[in-house]
Amino acid sequence: MSSPFPSVVARGLPFERGKAIGEQARARIVASVGNYEEFLSRATNISWKKARSFAEPYQEPIGEYDSEVLDEIGGIAKGAGLDYLDILALNARTELMYGITGVAIPECTSFAVAESVRGDGIRGPIIGQNWDWRPSSLSTLIFMEVEQPDRPSVAMIVEAGIVGKIGFNSVGLGVAGNFLLSEFDRGEPGVPLHIVMRAALNSHNVEEAEHQISRAHRSGSSNYLLADAGGALLDVETGPGSGRAFPLTPDGGVIGHANNFCAPIDFLDTGLQRVPDSEARTRRINELLKQHSGELGIKRIQEIMKDHDNGLASICRHTDAAKSTEDDWVTIAFIAMEPARGIMHIAKGNPCTGELWDYIPTFANQGLAPGGNDV
Ligand SMILES: [Zn+2]
Repeated sequence: MSSPFPSVVARGLPFERGKAIGEQARARIVASVGNYEEFLSRATNISWKKARSFAEPYQEPIGEYDSEVLDEIGGIAKGAGLDYLDILALNARTELMYGITGVAIPECTSFAVAESVRGDGIRGPIIGQNWDWRPSSLSTLIFMEVEQPDRPSVAMIVEAGIVGKIGFNSVGLGVAGNFLLSEFDRGEPGVPLHIVMRAALNSHNVEEAEHQISRAHRSGSSNYLLADAGGALLDVETGPGSGRAFPLTPDGGVIGHANNFCAPIDFLDTGLQRVPDSEARTRRINELLKQHSGELGIKRIQEIMKDHDNGLASICRHTDAAKSTEDDWVTIAFIAMEPARGIMHIAKGNPCTGELWDYIPTFANQGLAPGGNDV
């Protein structure tokens, strides 16, 4: 089977590596921008021009948080032949969609599993998720590897043009995530969650990643799931702003998460109101992970993520063929990473039908010990 998505490799200073990404992934970046332009105008009546103007004030908080990332965004725009604000708005697409427009959608079930409960004799934790999103995004996904001075190299699966997402780095830290929404989410200028994900991926371990998440003046709520080569697992739920970061530790060597806050929060979980099936998915993923403790290798995890309990609101999310529309939200990829070994196992589409493919970035070939296909 050939690779399900094209690969991009970029290295150097921020603008230089951004430009390399833009040049290599130009067609998919243009498609990403077109995708959100189409969605926003149809679902919310917000023009792309307006979305770009909403994104402009995000520059200052992003620059204060990590000026390198703004340079990289500038490089991506240059390389792809687009405007800087196109790529900035793309990186703030979640905050624009939820915070400003109030569009609500179901999204993502994630997991992290400690080495002690794998039972397959392979070292290191496993972290990943079912990524539930718009099917039209599938044609914009790329594997992206970035080698950056004085920071770990990072490897991700992303919508082309976005600088941070589900991935791992060259020192064995893995990051996954879930959409959350609180009563305080209003799309106010701050650091977008994809840029916080990248900062987490730039970290050396879970502790440093947690600091990068909590120190950000975030625009919106989100959930960040972390695992490192030292064996630490941590989940961090966040609301917007600089406070409101709530760490959750593993229970029995596992963490399962969906789209509702699990920490005892003192504000309204509006995401749960809009995505009421999330609580059932949270219960189900944790129940299945615990039930199979000690046999949680990659194959078993894929079986778990194929779960169809609760019908169309299940962990493995399908479209309702009878009512299919372009605004359906389905599982577009199943991702299970072994960050300590430098491998991302990924199935395009639903895990119940998709064939598993191993993405091994060049840094893993050079430094970490890749495991091949022996899972
Ligand atoms: Zn399925």
